Amino acid sequence: MKRNLRFYFALFFAKGTALVLKLIRRKGTSMPGSWAIILCPDFLGRMPRPKTVIGITGTNGKTTVANMVEDVLSDRGYDFVCNRSGTNVNTGVASSLIANSTFFGKPKKDLAIFELDERSSPKILPYLKPDLLLCTNLFRDSFKRNAHMEFIADILNTYIPDGTRLVLNADDLICAGLRPENPRVYFGIDQMPSDQAVCRNIVRDITTCPQCGTKLSWDFVRYHHIGRAHCPACGFRSPQAQYRTTAIDGENHRMTVSIEEKPLEFPLPNETTINVYNSLSAIALLSEFGLAPEEIASSMDKLSISETRYHEEEVNGKKVILHLAKGQNPIACSRAFENIRDYGRTEAGPACKKAVILFLDDYFDARHSVENTAWLFDTDFEFLHDDSVCQIIASGARHWDVTLRLLLADIPQEKISHLEDNEQAASLLRPQDADTVFILYDVYTIGLANHVKEQVKEILARLPEEREEKAHEG
Ligand SMILES: [Zn+2]
Repeated sequence: MKRNLRFYFALFFAKGTALVLKLIRRKGTSMPGSWAIILCPDFLGRMPRPKTVIGITGTNGKTTVANMVEDVLSDRGYDFVCNRSGTNVNTGVASSLIANSTFFGKPKKDLAIFELDERSSPKILPYLKPDLLLCTNLFRDSFKRNAHMEFIADILNTYIPDGTRLVLNADDLICAGLRPENPRVYFGIDQMPSDQAVCRNIVRDITTCPQCGTKLSWDFVRYHHIGRAHCPACGFRSPQAQYRTTAIDGENHRMTVSIEEKPLEFPLPNETTINVYNSLSAIALLSEFGLAPEEIASSMDKLSISETRYHEEEVNGKKVILHLAKGQNPIACSRAFENIRDYGRTEAGPACKKAVILFLDDYFDARHSVENTAWLFDTDFEFLHDDSVCQIIASGARHWDVTLRLLLADIPQEKISHLEDNEQAASLLRPQDADTVFILYDVYTIGLANHVKEQVKEILARLPEEREEKAHEG
């Protein structure tokens, strides 16, 4: 697209806005990009693009993966533009490009890494035309924001440009089937001891062959529609992955990845399956970009990959764990519930007693009352029906609905406590019962989660005094 007067007006106005924001010390806002797109709706198409553009999209994990990719590239000495401190929608991308351009809009850097919201791809992908696009996975997400993953897959299929090289999840048949005419590579995890023959989740979004519609036969199921399958009628099967995790060493936080049949060890921030997928997809993308596997491994070894989605502290020999579980996202919550069930589990059975505090209401939704509860019934609350879970506290505007769902999962009523006021959730905790307290929060409720975590820590810190007082009284 040609650069016209309107484009330059939008560019200069956006640059002026950015300058004002800088003067009043407001960082990381997408306001300059918003103005640019208001003034020139096809601004992204007219803005000169860096020589190489890498996009990272998918339902879950894209922020973690984008951060990992950026950290490795920085460590290898690459200079690039990215939207790490901004937003992953079109205005955020535009802001990043504006901030990293000369007076007339020429890019100052040759490389761009963008985390891209899959829902916004119609407004980004046709303009930005990424050279490489990673899709981590495609799952159900918030009904309100993302409707259904087939709807999202359809958007991606429509707007991924011809020629964009795709890096896709071989174990996710919805993701693996994106834009079949585009060049592609796959990543996947070989069969693991925890994989099953049948699906244990409520939701599995692909059950029939995408080519002929016959019921798929599953070689193994990892969770939901993740696993490997084949069609008994037409021979369709899950694709072969060029990047395969062949072994996971949880004790030493390492995994073996076979790249075109050559095995190499890589570090793992933690060995939950989701994190294995995140690291593996980052390795595949970086390798497709042109880094040697040894370079990626050595940079990853140096990085302490920040695990902001999971945070563990100890008070008085008891643990307090913050765990992200995107509200209204049934898959992210189901994964979190399964992690909680399996936490501290040994072959002899559960080794600890857990209390779980749930902040699952969507924060933005909650301000105008939470209107959709259907997602609660797609979520595997059944994982919390476990001997190791001794108390569940449901809090927020929808606490009665969450309680109903917990009861439907057969969780005994005496284990459930609930209240509306999030700030008071810790007051219901029975600290003597549990030795590990999980706080499940949404990205938007991190402030609240931290506040309640401090209250929980205070309660746990007082425990020995109370025990002593009781002993005295006795
Ligand atoms: Zn078939």
